Amino acid sequence: MVMNVLVCGAGGFIGSHLARRLADSGQWVRGVDLVAPAFSESAAHEFVLGDLRDPQLVARVLDRPFDAVYQFAADMGGAGYLFSGDNDADVIHNSALINLNIARQSVRAGAGKLFFASSACVYPRRNQEDPESPSCREDSVMPADPDSYYGWEKLFSERMYQAFRRNHGLDVRIGRFHNIFGHEGTWEGGREKVPAAICRKVAEAPDGSEIEVWGDGNQTRSFLHIDECLEAVARLMASDCAEPLNIGSDEMISINGLVELVASIAGKSIRIRHVPGPEGVRGRNSDNRLIQRSLGWKPTASLRTGLERTYPWIAEQVRLRSLQVQPRNA
Ligand code: NAD
Repeated sequence: MVMNVLVCGAGGFIGSHLARRLADSGQWVRGVDLVAPAFSESAAHEFVLGDLRDPQLVARVLDRPFDAVYQFAADMGGAGYLFSGDNDADVIHNSALINLNIARQSVRAGAGKLFFASSACVYPRRNQEDPESPSCREDSVMPADPDSYYGWEKLFSERMYQAFRRNHGLDVRIGRFHNIFGHEGTWEGGREKVPAAICRKVAEAPDGSEIEVWGDGNQTRSFLHIDECLEAVARLMASDCAEPLNIGSDEMISINGLVELVASIAGKSIRIRHVPGPEGVRGRNSDNRLIQRSLGWKPTASLRTGLERTYPWIAEQVRLRSLQVQPRNA
């Protein structure tokens, strides 16, 4: 049977990949976003350009009992956007409005299931001060103390969706994403996340030169390739697991280590210059014990494998930019 699905944020990195995966698997997809995907045609059968902060737009796009609603739309960016403090009011206001509208209208329209893309940024600062052994166990989220307003909004919206489940029967799934990366993601302009930023800097740098890294580079993170992320989302949606689950990699690496890895994939010798900049927490790694127990899911490939697929795409974007070739849809 053909499923009807709505992908909110279908013009973004994860949403556009998900729309393609769902359409390829025979589902009928409506996508909605402020913008069309930047790097390729949307695979959605219908793509609505619109602002999900507007309740009337939300009522128009969520006008029927979709079998599934995937909620990826958010005022989003990398560390430079989310952790500088300069965009906090917009981040919390815009994303909260989107989620409030979507929760209410999903109930009105009788949506089957709703997936909410939450984030590792919900976890409290106190568990992420040691770069060697951060803790991101799902139940460590309270008492709440996210290190960013982006994290506060995600935590608020998780709770809000859970309240809609309890009070209105909205069948919610919540994934806490930990740094998803891959091709066709933002790679320049200030909203790019660290793997894309490092790939771009390495691609731009001549062999033997140096690139800038914010902070001392000893801060740790983990990074999950987009294909692994989509598989976890599919399994979570197919399950009856109503509690939030981490969706990430547990292969932790320092930012200095990430530069080394990307440089070795690029075949370049690169030195690092550490400069002041927004760094976020000192350490973060996905704790995959619960998702492995609940869904039998864990990443299937190494960070290196994911980067070997991503670096050439970003290097090609850098080359095209130097020739002033516009990507499709830009
Ligand atoms: P993205 O910025 O590429 O996609 C988000 C999309 O939401 C964008 O296309 C944007 O235009 C759209 N959007 C923003 N405001 C909107 C509005 N008012 N109306 C309609 N559309 C609007 O980000 P992404 O990396 O694809 O992330 C998708 C989701 O996953 C987000 O909710 C994000 O917070 C979450 N997440 C992502 C990561 C990651 O590493 N990429 C990590 C944790 C959580």
